[in-house]
Amino acid sequence: MDCMLRMPPEVERAEERDFGAERIRHLRHAIIVGLIVYNIYNLTSLHLMADIQPFTVAMRLLVLVPGSLAIFYLVPRVPPALRELLLLGGMFVASLLPLYLLYISQSAYASYTLGELPLVLLFGNMLLVLRFRLALIFTSVTSLAALWVIHYKPDFDPNLVFPLTVQVVTGLFFTLYGNWHVERQRCLTYLARYDAQNRADRAERRGDALRDLTLTDMLTGIPNRRHLDETLHAWLERDGEVLLMMVDVDHFKAFNDRFGHVAGDDCLRRIAEALSTFAARHDGFAARYGGEEFTLLFGSEAAAGGPFIADRLVRSIRDLAIPHPARTDGLTHVTVSAGYAATGEGGVREARDLVTRADLALYEAKSAGRNRSRAG
Ligand code: GH3
Ligand code: MG
Ligand code: MG
Repeated sequence: MDCMLRMPPEVERAEERDFGAERIRHLRHAIIVGLIVYNIYNLTSLHLMADIQPFTVAMRLLVLVPGSLAIFYLVPRVPPALRELLLLGGMFVASLLPLYLLYISQSAYASYTLGELPLVLLFGNMLLVLRFRLALIFTSVTSLAALWVIHYKPDFDPNLVFPLTVQVVTGLFFTLYGNWHVERQRCLTYLARYDAQNRADRAERRGDALRDLTLTDMLTGIPNRRHLDETLHAWLERDGEVLLMMVDVDHFKAFNDRFGHVAGDDCLRRIAEALSTFAARHDGFAARYGGEEFTLLFGSEAAAGGPFIADRLVRSIRDLAIPHPARTDGLTHVTVSAGYAATGEGGVREARDLVTRADLALYEAKSAGRNRSRAG
């Protein structure tokens, strides 16, 4: 916040989002109240400026009333910066018009209309609560104009010049000081709220990121074993079939031995990515179970076509065509074996049972020559 009580632009925008509607409501109320009071006050000029009637009444009724109603209409319809400027414009008319009337009136009582000035200032600075920088402009221009009229109006009672100058200056200072105080309070309160909101958002994001981290496998970036356990339990609790597939890379030890663990890690990443894509395509879920083993889950729709899905999955890894020259079984690319098991309609819905059955099926697939799938 600077010395003109301006907050950083992004904070001003946030405040407008949070409190703009409330300010507009307040302004429209204040404009209506101001208009009523101003017109009642109007009656004083019938006595104090009798010489320029009905001009004063006409000016007020034809300039001020329509002007105020126009601002009342525009306040909710223009951007916030323009809205505040409109208020400043309206206040200039409200304060300069009576000063002009005072200047041209020949009435001996005309100087009493200066009593209106503090009311107008009170209204702009304390009731509308013009933004402080605008209140400063409004107050300065109004006071300069008032002082000019007091000092340069022909035939102005010289005995009134000093006391009225003091009255105008002190009155203006008071309302401006009040405006500064209210405006400062508004900014400080909102800045504190904005800070607290930001801190809470950051903490929430950190919490989310931390939780993501505890559910993600470090090497491959896909869900880890903990995430798998949570998802499997959630899926088993709701209705519908669940198909679980255990996938193990074939002859991976030989791959590591031949190319080293760094290349082995790269290979695992590529397989993990392919399995994720595959699972996503079938509304499934893929996780790294541990080591070179992965687990995939599928819902009812995919479960019906278990054998096809499993075969397609085995093929999709073979199609990656990652060279594996160290194999001794005649194949020359990286492959996987898969074992799967489904809950079946009304079947056992135990996570342990499902994993054990899929594991046994995987073992069968390995025994049958790898690069294939088996049902459990
Ligand atoms: P099988 O076809 O019977 O599955 O043979 P395999 O060689 O794949 O099985 P084995 O269980 O003998 O070896 C698994 C290998 O996986 C051994 C281990 O070094 C490797 N491995 C496990 N986790 C990682 C890892 O995070 N990075 C790398 N590079 N290798 C890993
Ligand atoms: Mg293994
Ligand atoms: Mg293996």
